[in-house]
Amino acid sequence: MKIGILGGGLAGLSLGYFFHLKGYNFKILEKNPETSGLLRSVNIDGFTFDIGGSHIIFSKDKEILEFLVSLLKTNIIKRKRNTKILYKGRYIKYPFENGLSDLPRQDNFECLYYFVQNLIAKERGLLKPPVNLKEWFYYTFGKGIAEKYLIPYNEKIWKFPLEEMSMVWVERIPQPPIEDIIKSSLGISTEGYTHQLYFYYPKFGGIQSLAKAFEESIKDNVITNFEVKKIKKEDGKWVVSNGKREFEFDKLISTIPLQELFKTLENVTKEITKAVENLKFNSIITVGIGIDRPKLNDFSWLYIPDREILTHRISFPSNYSPYVAPEGKSSLLAEITYREGDEISRMSDKEISERVLDDLDKLGIIDKRDIICITVNRIRYAYVIYDLNYKENLRIIHKFLKDMGIDLVGRFARWDYLNMDAVVKQARDYVEGHSQV
Ligand SMILES: Cc1cc2nc3c(=O)[nH]c(=O)nc-3n(C[C@H](O)[C@H](O)[C@H](O)COP(=O)(O)OP(=O)(O)OC[C@H]3O[C@@H](n4cnc5c(N)ncnc54)[C@H](O)[C@@H]3O)c2cc1C
Repeated sequence: MKIGILGGGLAGLSLGYFFHLKGYNFKILEKNPETSGLLRSVNIDGFTFDIGGSHIIFSKDKEILEFLVSLLKTNIIKRKRNTKILYKGRYIKYPFENGLSDLPRQDNFECLYYFVQNLIAKERGLLKPPVNLKEWFYYTFGKGIAEKYLIPYNEKIWKFPLEEMSMVWVERIPQPPIEDIIKSSLGISTEGYTHQLYFYYPKFGGIQSLAKAFEESIKDNVITNFEVKKIKKEDGKWVVSNGKREFEFDKLISTIPLQELFKTLENVTKEITKAVENLKFNSIITVGIGIDRPKLNDFSWLYIPDREILTHRISFPSNYSPYVAPEGKSSLLAEITYREGDEISRMSDKEISERVLDDLDKLGIIDKRDIICITVNRIRYAYVIYDLNYKENLRIIHKFLKDMGIDLVGRFARWDYLNMDAVVKQARDYVEGHSQV
């Protein structure tokens, strides 16, 4: 049996890795000259930048985490998170609810006051259960934390009205116990989002080293520069073509974004096409900056809810690993989300980089005169947006593909907010569950 895997991101590569362990015959078809998808890293003047955004290795699943770490052998560093939120010129401990005492006093008071008032109202049955993400922020954290941080930050990253977003996504938002909120307000130290408090990162090569570790043993099964353009079934076989060359497979697994997959299929009904068109996602621009200074700060990454500042998050790769910048230099990666057709999407790379440099200089995070190099990259599929209709759209699409016999693994193929650990687990479970193929 010959298996075709569409897409050579982490999902495609890890599927290949697990199939290889079982001795299966497979090929991975990747459109770009290089594999790794969102995990791509580039080297510019000795600086390594993760161009799909800042990636760290962490997981609630100990077994998967140990597996990912073991795959990188000695090419790994463990770090303790030191993440902040930049609020009114102050660095607030992350998550925001665990850093209330870092806020100006009045803001600290309002966060605690509305949190408690909210609890009392909930106890008395005076609060309607939330039906969308915005309402959930108010319902769970109260007006103070919601309006000072959660709402502005989430509006900035999603670029989508929060009242039109489903609450599916909130499982991953840290929800601290009441004691923690009170302690945090009084300045007694607490930690939130603890499964990410310690994280791993490759010593050399950026996050792409993880994708490459999966690829290492299966290189001969990977075909790059192969953009899947047409898929059809002939005499019980799948025929996959890029317009010049064809491959035949008995089984097909897609890890490419659903929108891209549907471009390759024939005889798709209007109902399905509409469901695919209605799936919402956002894109990301990353700006990697090399700096002629040994150290900018001790931060892992920084969230910036301020609407006047273009980037929502900056990370400091040379604080993850000193080997991703030349000796005596440091680096920074700014992330800016956008949606196709919006104002940011129309800005040129030059406008973007100038704006980011001006903003960061103004905030005192960098001195523009220290910049050695800068790289701007755009990634079309960054975050799945769970709008209120996504479940129904996805149900229709997944049923259609299941009936056709195309299996789906990965973030934009399953249309699910999957981190690397979940993608690898999905690939492993898929291969385990298909031992008869
Ligand atoms: C900004 C950001 C930060 C993140 N940070 C973290 C983090 O810190 N930790 C973590 O665990 N996870 C993180 N993630 C999630 C992580 O990036 C994903 O879980 C993972 O990369 C998904 O891999 P994938 O293979 O499913 O998708 P992708 O990486 O998107 O791979 C899909 C592949 O399909 C290829 N393709 C597309 N169309 C075609 C076609 N027609 N023919 C052939 N090939 C095609 C693409 O080129 C790509 O290589 C982050 C994601 C983002 C966006």
